[in-house]
Amino acid sequence: MSQNRFHPLSAYFRRRFGHRVRKIPLDAGSSCPNRDGSISVGGCSFCNEKGSGTGQAAAMSLTDQYLAGRERILAKGGTVRFLGYIQSFSNTYGPASRLRTMMQALEGLPDLVGIAVGTRPDCLDENKLDILRAAPFEEVWLDLGLQSAHDRTLRRINRGHDAACFKRWAREAGERGIKVCAHVITGLPGETLADFEQTMAVVNSLPVAGVKFHNLYICRDTALERDWREGRVELLTKEESLRWLVRGIALLRPEIVVHRLGGDPAPGELIAPDWALDKAGYLDAARRLLAHEDVWQGKALGLPLPQWFNPEGGKHA
Ligand code: SF4
Repeated sequence: MSQNRFHPLSAYFRRRFGHRVRKIPLDAGSSCPNRDGSISVGGCSFCNEKGSGTGQAAAMSLTDQYLAGRERILAKGGTVRFLGYIQSFSNTYGPASRLRTMMQALEGLPDLVGIAVGTRPDCLDENKLDILRAAPFEEVWLDLGLQSAHDRTLRRINRGHDAACFKRWAREAGERGIKVCAHVITGLPGETLADFEQTMAVVNSLPVAGVKFHNLYICRDTALERDWREGRVELLTKEESLRWLVRGIALLRPEIVVHRLGGDPAPGELIAPDWALDKAGYLDAARRLLAHEDVWQGKALGLPLPQWFNPEGGKHA
């Protein structure tokens, strides 16, 4: 039986809901102020014009996307519930009424226990957070891009907002009981491991309930691709990236749920590094390194082995 040396989302869901919960990605046809000219037209340097979009919005309503995704997963058997993940671009961008309409489209759908909404912190306001707080789901997650807590890095990757903006809206969301999932990236241009450690300290200091770790890779047709081809960006090796990830886990408060350990380039989009294509191999290597180094989530904070470290000793591991 494998051991959890970090607090995985699957274990959290099993403990919270008593069964498996799978995410269904949904595309609301949203846009992004960092692409449409409101802030910039270039976007974040690592993002291409698809913005992690599935392109489904043009053909199917949110409701139909959810029902189709549910049917696909249920056909495989087993007891499972679902979290609708409105993922692509910045889904709280635009008027609050747009967000309310999205919530109404998903309300009452079968087996839907929660939603996650991906967005930028500068696309939030009190009204939108109140809509999310009142949304009729057992759990509401807000996937918020931080990437780095260093403003010089955020400028370098053309993020279009600063770390203070993230901190403000993470606090506002947390105060309303909305679960913030912070996205961070290892190996951002110009960053050292010490910079990344400081980003983890900022995450720990906020009412953040979840983290997604991404390893930096170069996608086709991005500003980062141009910078990399011109020699202005150095990528971490797989071994370095794993070391940063393991350090990040060691520094993370144990109750924070780890939604993701690594990025997942879309087919055909990856330019470099080659190893980023082998997501399963990367995750396996991360687990092996955690075990080899005897690291667990929160160890570097001086915290003991959490209950979920050993599956024999915790019902939810
Ligand atoms: S905020 Fe998101 S969608 Fe917009 S440019 Fe950045 S990564 Fe892409």
